[in-house]
Amino acid sequence: MNKDHLTTQAKRHAKLTLTLNISALSKAVILLAIVGIVLYTVLFSTYPAVHDFFHELRHSLMMIPCH
Ligand SMILES: [Zn+2]
Repeated sequence: MNKDHLTTQAKRHAKLTLTLNISALSKAVILLAIVGIVLYTVLFSTYPAVHDFFHELRHSLMMIPCH
């Protein structure tokens, strides 16, 4: 039962992937947006949980002053 469900999901995903028609430009824009959001969050976010976790990384890059 569960395996059949997974197979159905896999077939549905494969069909969607094969019929989804996105141009290379759109893919590039989506990828760059995601990369930009992630880099901005990691390097410039002041949200304490994110900031504290990446604090040492920020200082090791020696180009992002935070204090
Ligand atoms: Zn700092």
